[in-house]
This record gives sequence, C-alpha cells and structure tokens, in this order.
Amino acid sequence: MENYYDFAVIGAGVTGLSASMYAARLGLKTVCFGASHSSELPLGGVITTTNIVENYPGFISLSGPELAERIKEHAESYELVSVKEEKVTNITKEGDKFLIESDKGKYTSKTILFAMGTKWKKLEVPGSNEFENKGVAYCALCDAPLFRNKIVCVVGGSDSAAKDALVLAEHAKKVYIIYRKENIRAEPINIKRVLKNEKIEIINNANVLEIKGEKFVQSVILDREFNGKKELELNGVFVAIGHVVLSDLAKNIGVNTNIKGEIIIDHKTSETNLAGVFAAGDVADKPFKQAITGVAEGCTAAYSAFEYINKNKTE
Ligand SMILES: Cc1cc2nc3c(=O)[nH]c(=O)nc-3n(C[C@H](O)[C@H](O)[C@H](O)COP(=O)(O)OP(=O)(O)OC[C@H]3O[C@@H](n4cnc5c(N)ncnc54)[C@H](O)[C@@H]3O)c2cc1C
Repeated sequence: MENYYDFAVIGAGVTGLSASMYAARLGLKTVCFGASHSSELPLGGVITTTNIVENYPGFISLSGPELAERIKEHAESYELVSVKEEKVTNITKEGDKFLIESDKGKYTSKTILFAMGTKWKKLEVPGSNEFENKGVAYCALCDAPLFRNKIVCVVGGSDSAAKDALVLAEHAKKVYIIYRKENIRAEPINIKRVLKNEKIEIINNANVLEIKGEKFVQSVILDREFNGKKELELNGVFVAIGHVVLSDLAKNIGVNTNIKGEIIIDHKTSETNLAGVFAAGDVADKPFKQAITGVAEGCTAAYSAFEYINKNKTE
C-alpha cells in the first residue's frame, strides 16, 4: 500500500533524518515529515540556525545547514525513505496501527517516532510581539545580515546566545549580550571568542522590561542602569532564552511527558510508555541536548522499532 509505512518519523531535524536512515538500513519502509510553513523550522531543524558546529564527530568545523543537508542526503540515499515537507496535524491509534494526518495527506504506520524538537521561547515583555520581524528576531543566522552596521542585543546567556552574538558581530557595529545572571554559561571556547570580540559587550545581571519603538525597534528598557541609563538605544533584539518542547501530538495519544512537556523515554531504547511509540532528540527528556545526542537516540529508536515490528509481526 502506497501510504502504509513501518516507521513514521514526525520531525525532519537531524534526529528524525538520522533515525530514518537507520530504519531504512534495517529494511523498514519509512516516512519522515518536516513542517512546511515558513514560520516553522525548515527541514534539518534548529541546527540550521547556527553557522558554527565544531563538536559533531567527523567534522572539525562545518555550518549547521551543511550538517543538516548531509544527514538529509544520507537518509534520502535509501529508497525506503521518503522525506515529506508536510506538517503533521493529528495522530490517532486504530488497533495496532497509527493513522497520521498531515496538511497534505493521510498515512498509516506500524510505529511512530516523535522527533518534533522545540520552538523558540518568546520574550514576554511589552513590545515583544508588536515588533516581531520589525527588529525582534529569533534566528541570528537567518536575520543577521539585515542588521549591517546597526546596534543589536542578544537576550540570554546560553551557548546559543553566545554563538548568536558572534554571528551578529560579523554584520552589526555593536552587539550587547543582556543576561539576567552574573556570568554567561556558554562553552568555554565561545566565551573566549565573545570576550575577545571588540564589538560584543555583556550587560550582566539585567533583564529587558520593555521593547520600544515607532515602526521598528528603537530601544529597550532595562531593570538596572547601564552607563547611567535604563534605556538602551538599539535597532534589533535577538531572543535566545530557550525553547518550548513541541510534544502536543504525542500527549494527544497518551504519551507521558514531564513537567517541562518533554516526552519521557527509556534512555536505553528510546521507547515511550506506549507500545510502538518512540521519541528522541530535543523533544525527549534529558538535560543535555545536542545534535549528536539526538542522532544517537533517533538511531536507537529505529532499532527498537525494528525489534518491535519483528516481535509483534504486524502486517
Ligand atoms: C543556535 C543554536 C546552536 C546550536 N549549536 C549546536 C552545536 O554546535 N552542536 C550541537 O551538537 N548542537 C547544537 N545545537 C543544538 C542542536 O541544534 C539540537 O540539539 C538538535 O539539532 C535537535 O535536533 P532535533 O531533530 O531533535 O530537533 P529539531 O532540530 O528542532 O527538529 C525538529 C523538526 O521537526 C519539525 N516539526 C515539528 N513539529 C512538526 C509537525 N507537527 N509536523 C512535521 N514536522 C514538525 C520542525 O519544524 C523541525 O524541523 C544548537 C542549537 C541552537 C538553537
């Protein structure tokens, strides 16, 4: 049957694409769905928003889009894999099969892998929604060239925030990192790069209370004085304060999640509490979320699905 699969992967980030490649090697007919709207992450997922990846084994340094493209190409080199640029809107269980509805079609699968990742957490302050795409942005790699010779800030103190600041410094004339705590918590190598970069300045122990402007962003209001003023004039605000897990499709069919909404998995098998349902990558429950950890869990899930199908001999 054309739309009948052994393994359906919801999410075409590095996790889902790697799992698809492994599943095909195990002989599973596999479909991998990646959301297709421009407001969502493209095929390849969130890694496509960074231009420096230096910790993926086998590649000393490459860009996120390049890594994602290589993994996608690898998955698609197997005839058993079909990558579809479609958004999955609903999943239901019927007997021992899963019915999947997307914005373009209907499919059936013996097993499911949830690999939907996350979406950016919004900065909940006045002006944040009003100025989205008018100076407030979430993807530094995508939007940095729009801020050539401008003044921008990155809100956040994670490794992603530090890397965003470094990308922005290639275009903007000044980049502030505004972080609510004393010290940013990026990888030591990225902290060094930030501190060495003359265009980047860290404003620590500070929160953004408001984003102001007319048609576009013109300033932010801080909760403490910086250089004698609480108002900081700038043209762009890049928000890097974390992510919200996209686990609703899984919750709707009874998959257990933790308080953060992350799907609870058995870390040896990537199984969830439901038979035939697996999860991996940024959508799953773990403190350390990286491309390599998602890829490993996705491949484990493919193997577990293969074992599940063999054990249950579903037709
Ligand atoms: C700025 C930044 C820099 C980073 N740098 C590094 C680094 O240097 N090294 C490293 O190892 N990690 C890095 N990471 C972390 C790494 O990118 C992630 O851990 C990893 O890419 C997560 O992959 P994923 O496939 O699990 O999820 P995602 O990449 O989020 O992919 C999920 C995909 O599923 C799609 N999707 C969601 N819902 C649906 C639906 N209903 N239907 C269809 N598709 C759907 C999404 O659109 C997305 O494409 C970085 C992260 C960020 C934000």
